[in-house]
Amino acid sequence: MMIPLQNLLDDHKCYEVIRQLRWPDGVRCPHCSAAAVTKQGRDTTQPARRKYRCQGCDRYFDDLTGTVFAGHHQPLSV
Ligand SMILES: [Zn+2]
Repeated sequence: MMIPLQNLLDDHKCYEVIRQLRWPDGVRCPHCSAAAVTKQGRDTTQPARRKYRCQGCDRYFDDLTGTVFAGHHQPLSV
């Protein structure tokens, strides 16, 4: 699937804004609020969407886990 570059950039901006709103002081686990979080690469279909693993509760989450956008499988700009 071809993704137009403009859409990709817009999506990166969207996720950047979401991350800053959610985690102004750095990424925290939505399950246990631990700040000890390791990056786990990116979503395969949405490269702007970062994935993480919590070292506190050993659970995985991503930029949208626990937000109104969770389960959203379209690019955010759609
Ligand atoms: Zn956790």
